[in-house]
Amino acid sequence: MKPAVFLDRDGTLIEDVGYLDDVSRVAFFPWTIDAIRALNRAGLPVVVVTNQSGIARGILDEALVDATHAHLTARLAAGGARVDAYYYCPHHPRGSIAAFARECECRKPARGLIDRAVTDLGLDPARSFVVGDKWTDVQLARAVGARAILVRTGGGAAEERRPVTGVAADAIVDNLAAAASWILNQR
Ligand SMILES: [Mg+2]
Ligand SMILES: [Zn+2]
Repeated sequence: MKPAVFLDRDGTLIEDVGYLDDVSRVAFFPWTIDAIRALNRAGLPVVVVTNQSGIARGILDEALVDATHAHLTARLAAGGARVDAYYYCPHHPRGSIAAFARECECRKPARGLIDRAVTDLGLDPARSFVVGDKWTDVQLARAVGARAILVRTGGGAAEERRPVTGVAADAIVDNLAAAASWILNQR
C-alpha cells in the first residue's frame, strides 16, 4: 500500500472559476505542472478528488467533467506531469437532476472518493496527504487519517481568515508548489 497525494481541483490545481461549464475556462496556475511533476518524480501517486455538484444542479454534465479531465491530462502530459486518477462527486442533496439529487458518501468532506481510490490503486491513506483550498478538504484528510495542507489560492485565503473550531491543517501554504515542497520535505 502506497502513500499518495490527493488534490482538490478547483482553486488548488486550476483557478476556481465557479461552475466550470466549458473546457475553455480551464486556467492552470503557473506552478501547477511543475508541482505535479515533482510529486510524480518522488513516486507519489497523484489523485484528484473534486466535488462537482454542478452535475446535480444541471449546470454541467458528466461528459463535460470527463472532457475537462482529458484536457488537464493533455496539458499536464505536455509538461511531463501526470495525474494518476480523477474522482468526482456529481451529487448534491438539493440538486435538480433526479439521478444525482441525494445525500451521498462521496461529497467532500465525506470520504467516499478517497475510499474508491484506495481500493482501485492500492493506497495507504494514513501515509497520504490531502491538498485543498477549503476546510472541507482538511476535514476530508482528517476523516481518512491523512495529513492536510490548506493552500491560499482559490478560496484558501478567505478560509484562513475564517477558522473552523476543531479543524486544523498540518500546514497552510501559499499554493500547490509550496504544498508539494512541504510534502516532499516530510519524506
Ligand atoms: Mg477547491
Ligand atoms: Zn457524491
